[in-house]
Order: sequence, then C-alpha cells, then structure tokens
Amino acid sequence: MFDIQKIRADFPILSRQVNGKPLVYFDNGATTQKPQVVIDAIATYYQEINANIHRGVHTLSQLATDAYEASRTKIQNHINAQFAHEVLFTSGTTHGVNLVANGFASLLKAGDEVLVSALEHHSNIVPWQMLCEKTGAVLKVIPMNEKGELVMTEFDQLLSDKTKIVTVNHISNALGTINPIKYMIDKAHQFGAAVFIDGAQAVPHLKPNVQELDCDFYAFSGHKICGPTGTGILYGKEAWLNKLPPYQGGGEMIKEVTFEKTTYAELPHKFEAGTPNIAGGIVLGAAVDYMNSVGFDNIQKQELELLNYATEQLLAIEGLKIYGTAEAKTSVISFNIDGIHPYDIGTIVDKLGIAVRTGHHCAQPIMNFFEIPGTIRASFAFYNTKEEIDVMVEAVKKAKMMLS
Ligand code: PMP
Repeated sequence: MFDIQKIRADFPILSRQVNGKPLVYFDNGATTQKPQVVIDAIATYYQEINANIHRGVHTLSQLATDAYEASRTKIQNHINAQFAHEVLFTSGTTHGVNLVANGFASLLKAGDEVLVSALEHHSNIVPWQMLCEKTGAVLKVIPMNEKGELVMTEFDQLLSDKTKIVTVNHISNALGTINPIKYMIDKAHQFGAAVFIDGAQAVPHLKPNVQELDCDFYAFSGHKICGPTGTGILYGKEAWLNKLPPYQGGGEMIKEVTFEKTTYAELPHKFEAGTPNIAGGIVLGAAVDYMNSVGFDNIQKQELELLNYATEQLLAIEGLKIYGTAEAKTSVISFNIDGIHPYDIGTIVDKLGIAVRTGHHCAQPIMNFFEIPGTIRASFAFYNTKEEIDVMVEAVKKAKMMLS
C-alpha cells in the first residue's frame, strides 16, 4: 500500500518551512531529499563500525569491509549485474563518465568517432570532448527534434565502423525524455561500438537491468536516489573493465609495487584507489533498500499522476510553453512564460517556499536548440503531492501577474 502521508513522514525536511511557507520541493532532478533511515544509517556507521576497509584484520575493519561489500552486492542485485566486481563505487555520475572517457584514451586513435547525444548533461559531454582532444578522435552529435526526442534515423546514419563508443543518457535531466536506449545499444553493437549510459536521471524512477539492456557501462549518482552526496556507481562489463587502464593510482588499487614496476589489483579494486567514501557506499545500500521498500511500481504510478496533473494545470496558464513533449517522459516539466525570464519566476516562487530549478540545467546545447537562455524546471519525486502542484501553479500565476 502506498500511503503518501506515511512516505512524507519519512522525510524530516519536508515538514520545514522556507521563507515562512511550507516547503514545496520540486528540485528532485538536482538532488532528492533523504529519509530518516538514510540519515540514521550515516550516524550508525560512525557510531558503531567506523574503520578503514580492506586493510586491518581487526574486528571493526572487518565489519566496515563486510558492510561496504554487502552494499556492493545489494547494488549488483538492484541493477542485475552479473558480477559484484562489475560494480564500482564512485563519487557520482561525473566520476563514472570521466573514468571511462579517460580509459578510452588508450583505445582510440585519430579519426575514430565518439557519438554523443544532443540531449546530454555537460558531464556527459565535456569528458568526451577532452578525450577527443587528447586522441584526435571526432565527436559526432546525435540530433534531437522539437519534441525533445533523439532522431533515430539520424543515429542510424551516424553509426559506422569508425564509431568506437556511443554515449547517451537513459533519461534527460532538462526535458525528462526517456531515450530508446535498448534500440541504441543493439544498433551500436552491430558496429562493434561500446555504449555508455548515463543513468543519473533514470535510477530515481526505475530499476535498470544492465544485463537485459546489454549496455557496456551504466553510471549513476547516489544523491538522486535518496542517498548521500558524493556517492555513485559505475557499472562496467567485466571484459571492458579489464581492458581499460586504471583511472587513478594509489593505495588499494595495486597488487605489488616496486620502483621498477607496479601491477594492479583485480576488479573492482583496480578502479578504487585510496580510502573510499566508506560511509557513503554503505549508506547508498540503505538508500537502495528504502527505494525498493517504497517500490518502483508505486514510485512510477505516483510520479506519472503528478506529471499529468501538473502538465494540465500549467498548460492552462496563458503564454506558458513546455519544452520536451516526448511520448516517453518522466516527471520533469521544463517551461517558460512568454516574455518573462525564467530566473525572475524562480526568484518569486522561492519567496513562496517553492524550490524549482531555473537556468540551463547543465545542458546548454538543449537551450541553444530551443534558442532560449534557460527554463524553469519542476521535477517531481514520489513524495510530492497534487496539493503541492496546486501551490506551485498559483505561485507561477502570481509571478506572471507581477512580471507582466
Ligand atoms: N547526468 C545527468 C543526466 C544528470 O542529471 C546529472 C546531475 N544533474 C549528472 C549527469 C551529473 O551527476 P553528478 O553531478 O551527481 O555527478
């Protein structure tokens, strides 16, 4: 049973006031709020088992190591990876993209091609540009259409034997478009290209099945699924992770070090240099447990209702335009009102306790496509309500009146 009041009570921050008004938190695309179980798990780690992992034989070190590795296994099961060592702890999606893009520098030569989609967050553009600068590979862009969808006929045309890696997000942070990644993965594999999926905006809404998708890499951030900041996961197929060189050197990632030659540790340690975010990794497991206890069927049902309701209510405002009208989309609404700068609306609604995002959402190419400076983005989570949407819609109407 999905009891929204019970769910909301799990999140202490949802009962606070902002600027003298009850908080309406619609910036879930940027980061989600944390339930009490996750907040408690952080304290419990430091109160009861804090120690460095994979090192000491002492009891606390073993307890911390076991908890950290148990969390890895939990995430392996959550995303259906074949092996636990294909699941790397990172500091977030950005770290995952950089790890892979950096590794591909040793595999690419001048003239090879990297395909990136027009719908990407900057963190899934810039590392690939840096890779191309380093290697002489060419960055090609899979275009989008007015609805905010990737154009598959163009994608098909861009693929060739020169394509070495295709990188695309599962869901767009700026528009909410759900991309046809299964089609793209299968098609890219026909040309022998690897596929990197940026799952940052997908994991809050669905359970990715990496074996079924057959993607080569899948990255996400813990803070967008009710987990702590500075945590994330990079899934990579064993064969690819064995092929890529380490990203960072240091302790933990070695087998043997001499001044003449160092040999590297087995997966996953080869990619986990130094003392990791131990508490974060363990608590990320608690966050995944929490999301599963709510249930992804419930999450999707609630979020779809919110998306449909908010779309209808917002479109009733004259002069309001929604960007991103794909058939397949998640609970993100990016909009503008004729003649009003998005920042001005954002500032006024904040005074009324409502947190929405304004700006380019780290996706400037999308804003350039629509020839706008930015949008107002309301992104909903399963703990949001229709009543909160009513509050936002009234606030937007008020802002419009004040600014027109
Ligand atoms: N990709 C997408 C689609 C995102 O939405 C984000 C976060 N806004 C990122 C990548 C980067 O995630 P992080 O900042 O957690 O590394």
